[in-house]
Amino acid sequence: MKIANPYTNQGTWLKGSFHNHTTNSDGWFPLETVYKMYGGYDFLGISDHDKITKHEGKREIPTVFEAIEVSSRQTHMLLVQPPHKIMEDYSNEFTIENYQRFVDLTVENGGFAVLVHPNRFFSNYWNLEDMLAMDRYLGVEVYNGDGNPEYDIAFDKWDAILSTGYRVWGFGNDDSHVYGQEKRAWNVVMAEENTTEAIIRAIKAGNFYVSTGYGFEGIRVEGNTIVADLRSNELLDKMYKYVTFFGKDGKVLKESTGRISQAQYECQGNEGYVRVAVYLEGGYSAFSQPLFVEKE
Ligand SMILES: [Zn+2]
Ligand SMILES: [Zn+2]
Repeated sequence: MKIANPYTNQGTWLKGSFHNHTTNSDGWFPLETVYKMYGGYDFLGISDHDKITKHEGKREIPTVFEAIEVSSRQTHMLLVQPPHKIMEDYSNEFTIENYQRFVDLTVENGGFAVLVHPNRFFSNYWNLEDMLAMDRYLGVEVYNGDGNPEYDIAFDKWDAILSTGYRVWGFGNDDSHVYGQEKRAWNVVMAEENTTEAIIRAIKAGNFYVSTGYGFEGIRVEGNTIVADLRSNELLDKMYKYVTFFGKDGKVLKESTGRISQAQYECQGNEGYVRVAVYLEGGYSAFSQPLFVEKE
């Protein structure tokens, strides 16, 4: 069988979020304050509603991304590194055609698109059929840090899309607007260097995972076995872990628990894909991208 592992290229793990707001739309804080709120991050994207906020002023975050949240009344979509020409005849109206045009222009500009908070049923959310009608987007926001567990978690939609055979990555972002929404969920990217180009290259390849505080040292394939090395040190190794391997349709393939620093799953060939979720006692978590499993 063939197992496509996105975690093969080496580099450094970098931490960041692509989806956050400022006073340029409905965020509470000006750009300079948002930079300070994210002190310690390796990269940060600012994605105001229907506006590309220019990065300017003093900041310590090494790498920043221009972004926009296309915000119709029905659905929201994040574009990272969109071309400025999208603003010329801009409309946030949700039609597949209009949203797809934004995706295409962003991809052609070297950026990427993510369908965000797809389960925010009380305001702006995605119907699965609309997600399946879209093409060329890179990912789905599976963890949004807005603060409503009923609405911010979307592993179900991710599994549904992956199970059709469409390959999309899972993203975690704060979508921060107000006090307390910062540093809840982020992406940890294995990039060759901390530049916009290297981070985007790694993100497109799926060489990243979503974190709320815990993480992976790495994920590798040995023969037909997926080996997840959990973040490990003397203190973490004493703590209890809950590891789940998920496959097609969200099926639980294996669970491993204990004061472990590694978990393994031997593929049978019919999984479609395998993704790993891990929780550290206390609730800190990390969610891998899918490894695609094909019978040869
Ligand atoms: Zn939104
Ligand atoms: Zn937002």
